[in-house]
Amino acid sequence: MKKVGWILFFMICLFFLGDNPALAGEIKITIGVNDSLIGFNEQKPLIIDGTAYSPMEPLLNGIKAKTTYDPQNKIYTATINEKRITFSMVDKSISMNELEYLDTLKVLNGTPYIPVRLVGEYFGFNVKYLAKDQVVRVFDKNHKYTDADFITKHRKELDKYFNIRPKNIVYLTFDDGPNAYTSQILDILKKKDTHATFFMIEGNIKHYPEVVKRMVKEENYPALHSVTHDKNKIYANPKNVASEMDKTRKTLQTISGFDSHLTRVPYGSKPYMKQPYRDDMVKNKFKMWDWTIDTEDWRYGKTPWKIVDKVKSGMQGLKGKNKPIVILLHDSKASASVLGEIIDYVRKQGYEPVSYDPGKHEVVNFWGDTRL
Ligand SMILES: [Zn+2]
Repeated sequence: MKKVGWILFFMICLFFLGDNPALAGEIKITIGVNDSLIGFNEQKPLIIDGTAYSPMEPLLNGIKAKTTYDPQNKIYTATINEKRITFSMVDKSISMNELEYLDTLKVLNGTPYIPVRLVGEYFGFNVKYLAKDQVVRVFDKNHKYTDADFITKHRKELDKYFNIRPKNIVYLTFDDGPNAYTSQILDILKKKDTHATFFMIEGNIKHYPEVVKRMVKEENYPALHSVTHDKNKIYANPKNVASEMDKTRKTLQTISGFDSHLTRVPYGSKPYMKQPYRDDMVKNKFKMWDWTIDTEDWRYGKTPWKIVDKVKSGMQGLKGKNKPIVILLHDSKASASVLGEIIDYVRKQGYEPVSYDPGKHEVVNFWGDTRL
């Protein structure tokens, strides 16, 4: 009896292990066909017990197989030229060349997964796993890139797919918007294929809802910068700050659907944000950012090149110090006019601008309060 119990236990374990993609032992990968990466939806390809599996549809489309589905028998058929494979959803088998491989098809969260090598090689492709970059290459004579070229060419896309951040990053942050200049700033960010963080005033969010929606859609990070922006009002008592931020948060959420907890208080957190103020922010689950480079862009409306100089001297000053680089700018004509130049400079120094990521929060406040 005891033995049977153990066997049953292991069978149950195996059952769950076999079906849950979140469990360890599975590696998220991606797949390239010749010189392109395949696009995947929610369901990503995985290595399970040493075998690479892909969601059926994107792989078959990627290798340009013709597919049909027989709903009565639950059988998919994929054809390239004279070659044909059938996938049975009933017994999870794959048939080719008169051979039937039982239990080779997996169903994860309702999506059929097929083994990449078995299918790829049957249709005459080479299949190769680039382990370091977690990419399976499926290729025939139509590919041009070497493996190294393939990775270099797709580096940015791969980093995004695997949620890898560049090592040296800077945060470009814009305060007081949105306003008439924000669209121009978004245009430049888009053109340069990069992102920023916007600390916005509640009334301005209401005034420029379309700009806010675009900002979010283009993967910039929307953050909160108060309702009144008036130091006599917002700092009048310790509860006002969190309460103004919460009102801004709700307006942002109504307009864009985005729930942001990152704040920057007007004029920076010193000297106003003493302990009771900060306690209240913590209690309300807000994060509070100041900056490490002040461009003083409000001074340089007529001399915008000085904004770039401030970025340069600021970055030199932070060299070797283990501090996040958070650059303070405003949604202004002057800053918009030099933003492209700032991005180019930052990149030349080996840094990449990224937007705030709450999952990778860094402490950036003048009080060194690690709760915020
Ligand atoms: Zn401000």
